[in-house]
Amino acid sequence: MSVIESLRRSHAELVEIRRDIHAHPELSFAEHRTAALVADRLEALGIETHRGIGRTGVVGVVRGRPGGRAVGLRADMDALPIQEHNTFAHRSRHAGCMHACGHDGHTTMLLGAAEVLAAQAADFEGTVNLVFQPAEEGDGGAQAMIDDGLFERFPMEAIFGMHNWPGLDAGSFAVHRGPTMASADRFDVEVRGHGAHAAMPHLGIDPVVAAAALVQAVQTIASRTLDPHDPAVVSVTMFNAGEAYNVIPDRVRLSGTVRAFSAGVQDRIEARLGEICAGIGAAYGVEIALDYRRGYPATINTVAEADLCQAVATTLVGAHHVAADMRPSMGAEDFAFYLQHKPGCYVWIGNGPGEGGCTLHNPHYDFNDEIIPVGAAYWVELARRFLASPH
Ligand SMILES: [Zn+2]
Ligand SMILES: [Zn+2]
Repeated sequence: MSVIESLRRSHAELVEIRRDIHAHPELSFAEHRTAALVADRLEALGIETHRGIGRTGVVGVVRGRPGGRAVGLRADMDALPIQEHNTFAHRSRHAGCMHACGHDGHTTMLLGAAEVLAAQAADFEGTVNLVFQPAEEGDGGAQAMIDDGLFERFPMEAIFGMHNWPGLDAGSFAVHRGPTMASADRFDVEVRGHGAHAAMPHLGIDPVVAAAALVQAVQTIASRTLDPHDPAVVSVTMFNAGEAYNVIPDRVRLSGTVRAFSAGVQDRIEARLGEICAGIGAAYGVEIALDYRRGYPATINTVAEADLCQAVATTLVGAHHVAADMRPSMGAEDFAFYLQHKPGCYVWIGNGPGEGGCTLHNPHYDFNDEIIPVGAAYWVELARRFLASPH
């Protein structure tokens, strides 16, 4: 029986697991029930299982014949602080918490692959590490697992990731050679002036006018400072000042996000933001404090691993259903942290049309159960091809 056939046989059971996880979403580092479900199932499959890696992470180790290579396959398990608006039976049971990014599906597809790999272990040489990661949505669960010794305790030569992608045909794939997701940094700015009666502005120093100029000026970073071939976003998303019609406040707080595809561009943006704050401060006579914090790095696939993923996906679904020319996303992904240590590749699997709000982080989103067999088969084929390939 082929891999995809055996996965189609367990499809109904996998859908049940996926919907159970969907109905019981858990936020970052609180994935206790989900992690237990994963670990219990791995153990039931006879897979060596390690709990509590990076707090709520789980690693399953499928050992083939001794020797050979080692590879990591990663799924994320956490949900989002969103109130679900779906009304189907498997909707979230937890108020204000929802699997709106499909990590329930990612976890299920890797569990499906675990079953097949465990059953086939005598057929291949090498080791497959199944990495079930907590806290992808902002808290850096990948880094927590790395800090907890992921790569030392579970040696692997490369690591692979997969995310569902609404708007891409169900069960098709997109593979990027190089950048696939952007970095995500955050900044907070405080503009300090001198409060005054709004009718007597000459007696104060107005931070609102200075902050407005600052918002305008940072628009020139992407348009005038960076190479037009280097995509980047600088967005001011919060602007808080004042509480009365007749008072010039003494301070304004601004915050926002920066997205880019390379550390060099991040450096350039951070430096330019500092220069603009200093310049606006001098021009308007205000004090400006900037707090710039690096978040997730850009997710940059390595070429050889991307080529392998593309070959595996092509074998599985045919070249027509593997896009190699889709633009990267300005969204961010903590799989990037693994790629700072190991070669690897993070692909998108189509979730079908994003209609009716079935888009990532939308309260109407739901993972498409139809793609579970092909996603799980992709993991199995990828692991086997990687282990069988020469060093
Ligand atoms: Zn997400
Ligand atoms: Zn996600």
